[in-house]
Amino acid sequence: MEIDFLLIGQGLAGTALSYRLLKAGRKVLVMDLPHENQSSRIAAGLYNPITGKKMVKTWKGDVLFPEIEPFYEQLEKELEINFLYKKAIYRPFLSIEEQNEWMGYSGEEGFQAYFQEIFQQTHFPEVVNPYGGILLAQSGYLDIPTYLDTYRDYLIRLDAYREERYDEEFLMFTETGVRYKEINAKGIVYCNGLGTMGSKYFSNAPFAPVKGEILDIQQDFVPDEIINRGVFRIPLSNGNLRVGSTYTWHDLDSGPTERAKEEIFEKLDKLMVSNEKVLVAHRTGIRPATKDRKPFLGKHPEFSSVYIFNGFGAKGVSLTPYFSKVMTDLLLNNQNPEKEVNISRWK
Ligand SMILES: Cc1cc2nc3c(=O)[nH]c(=O)nc-3n(C[C@H](O)[C@H](O)[C@H](O)COP(=O)(O)OP(=O)(O)OC[C@H]3O[C@@H](n4cnc5c(N)ncnc54)[C@H](O)[C@@H]3O)c2cc1C
Repeated sequence: MEIDFLLIGQGLAGTALSYRLLKAGRKVLVMDLPHENQSSRIAAGLYNPITGKKMVKTWKGDVLFPEIEPFYEQLEKELEINFLYKKAIYRPFLSIEEQNEWMGYSGEEGFQAYFQEIFQQTHFPEVVNPYGGILLAQSGYLDIPTYLDTYRDYLIRLDAYREERYDEEFLMFTETGVRYKEINAKGIVYCNGLGTMGSKYFSNAPFAPVKGEILDIQQDFVPDEIINRGVFRIPLSNGNLRVGSTYTWHDLDSGPTERAKEEIFEKLDKLMVSNEKVLVAHRTGIRPATKDRKPFLGKHPEFSSVYIFNGFGAKGVSLTPYFSKVMTDLLLNNQNPEKEVNISRWK
């Protein structure tokens, strides 16, 4: 079998990159273990331009956000299915000072693209928001399981997918690239999230896995908007709400914990006027995060046909549309990614 690129992993990373390569007319094969996916299938799928306790513009927001919706919408059209839910995010203000600060930002050019409206008084009576809040634009969520499953079917139709465990022991180098079993490729790309941690080619890549727990619940108040302060509360198409998530660097293997559930409920109870709720599901996953919280893109320093596209941490939905473009430029035009995200920043 002769192909251009063998991609390991079909999470958010492998999906976006393989699509860009196919659109550029390249032949790819994606090898994946969907039932072992530890991150993309658990994720809430949120993309949010203003994040964190202090509500700041997300890292590289101005280059990332123009790519997000057009990318997923193009795939929706191609696959004839809906998985992108564009939804405003409502972020209540915590104080009058914060309200004033954001009234100030609303006049600034760099922020205007992310604002829909600012409220100076309670906007939702069901939410604790005495100082009002801000409705953000260019936000929403991706139904990741639907996205991954329909894209996998598309790859299968193109004869570009294998459900198989990639075993590095079978990788060999040839004059033109690599050979894996009967597959000859110009290059191999590790898009397999934390699966890359066991690779001898990237054993020094400083991953810092972060466990996350997330709940599906039922509550009476189901607005169209996502509400986000301390926790996010996403209205799903089945009428449930997705709430979360936690961040821990320990207990990586212990599955759902009572402590995380309590943590999420505590934050939710602070956000909502009513504490009534029914728990429907409790899931956990591990984010392929990195020590400096920036992704890993690039080429192995010694084996020039071995590449990495990984480390998307807590933000795979918003990072992969833009960075899959950057990575495609490396694979096809030998254009090096900027230092901040280049794997070469680590020795
Ligand atoms: C609780 C939680 C909430 C989250 N919420 C959000 C959110 O709201 N928004 C957001 O943008 N991100 C969120 N994330 C983060 C998001 O899930 C990650 O950024 C994203 O999943 C990373 O995708 P990936 O493709 O790099 O890795 P993965 O999704 O881990 O995919 C890697 C794939 O490679 C496969 N694989 C591994 N080894 C092998 C092998 N040897 N052979 C074959 N296949 C292999 C795996 O089975 C898997 O399918 C969340 C994560 C968690 C855990």
